[in-house]
Amino acid sequence: MKRQLSASVVVALVTSVSLVSAQTKITAPKNKYTPAQDVQLGREAAQEVQQKLPLLRDDNIDGYVDDIGERLVQNIPQEFRHNEFRYTFDVVNLREINAFALPGGPMYAHRGMIEKARSEAEVAGVLAHEISHVALRHGTAQASKAGKYQMGQIGSAILGAIIGGRAGEAVSTVGQFGFGAAFLKYSREYEKQADLLGAQIMARSGYDPRSMASMFQTIEKEGGSRGPEWLSNHPNPGNRVQYITQEAQALRVENAVNDTRQFQNVQARLRSMSPAPTSEEVARSGGGNRNPSGTSGTVRPSGRVEPPASRYTTYNEGNLFRVSVPSNWREMPSETQVTFAPEGGYGAINNQSVFTHGVQIGVARNETHDLQQATDELLQSLAQSNRGMSRPSGYARANIGGRQGLHTVVANDADSTGRERLAVYTTQLSDGSLFYMIGVAPENEYRSYDRVFSQIASSIRFSR
Ligand SMILES: [Zn+2]
Repeated sequence: MKRQLSASVVVALVTSVSLVSAQTKITAPKNKYTPAQDVQLGREAAQEVQQKLPLLRDDNIDGYVDDIGERLVQNIPQEFRHNEFRYTFDVVNLREINAFALPGGPMYAHRGMIEKARSEAEVAGVLAHEISHVALRHGTAQASKAGKYQMGQIGSAILGAIIGGRAGEAVSTVGQFGFGAAFLKYSREYEKQADLLGAQIMARSGYDPRSMASMFQTIEKEGGSRGPEWLSNHPNPGNRVQYITQEAQALRVENAVNDTRQFQNVQARLRSMSPAPTSEEVARSGGGNRNPSGTSGTVRPSGRVEPPASRYTTYNEGNLFRVSVPSNWREMPSETQVTFAPEGGYGAINNQSVFTHGVQIGVARNETHDLQQATDELLQSLAQSNRGMSRPSGYARANIGGRQGLHTVVANDADSTGRERLAVYTTQLSDGSLFYMIGVAPENEYRSYDRVFSQIASSIRFSR
């Protein structure tokens, strides 16, 4: 009798262990900010989002998205709840499929996402993913890692990652590299966490997590040659559909909510409205980005530029590096990079900063551990916002601040500033991030600037 009893206890234990281990255990990443700071940073960034992005402000549709969001928020596992956080949902009147979350809870879903979803569960999948980024505090965790390279405030850098993404890149000028996104987009590790926690929250709310995977498949098919905007903030960690499907099997949802009448009504209502503009259209009409030169509206660079002075001035950039540039160039720091350019060589077109002569220096997050691959990715992201850019024909070795680096020159045919050349220098910092310097000069003046760029590159000294 006794024996039998203990055998059944063992069986019960084994069963419960296998159930627990089937669901992936998630641990929030290290974070040097407090939850209260998340709230404050998110609130600051949200104010700018309200000003710069076109919100739909339709009670029916906002109410519907709120209801789904609220249901999901109720099901955030206890260990990831923060009393300070307030989860809010707004619909942005933009055509691309996208969604993003700010620290502490403000979330934004593009109208295009709701239009392209095939069921309520797919909308819930995207929201659950975003809620997970907030609950796991991924924005400030990422900033904790990037902190020492910050040239401006974290809040605006987070904002830059969102608004400086495709909306900021839309006007294809050389001045607008849109590196906010490269700097603060979520790492693949965080993406996978948001997928898995999102799947768990969906299941607890009565949605089948596989709908998240099918929404991602729809998203990846979107976007044509430039790729879907979603991926610039939420990179695919690889095998996304497989591991979400696997997690869904471990979670077993019965009688899942899939399609609802409200979902059909909301889609019909959206179809009856005039079509949403693209981010590019919004950026062109002036709803775009801050620009580092401080010039607003359209002030075209005159192109009449003094030759680079033979005397150089040295600048210290944060506690990261110093660099010497011709003394008649002006320093224009922005959130994630610094530009040096001569009078007449910079300006703004539709609020987007442009420069025809000068250098831009910054640090981009990099996960590749391979300098050439990281440089390839940098050039690819440049090519996305500069459609007239040629591919590099190869890389030469370069020494940058005592580190091994790469150098290449690419041609660019810019709508606003004509034919020009970009001199690209890169190296990896000790934490693996990519340090870059990009020099720009018109094609017919490039010979004399080539020397200046190489002199600037060789003046760079890192502080650590
Ligand atoms: Zn994500």
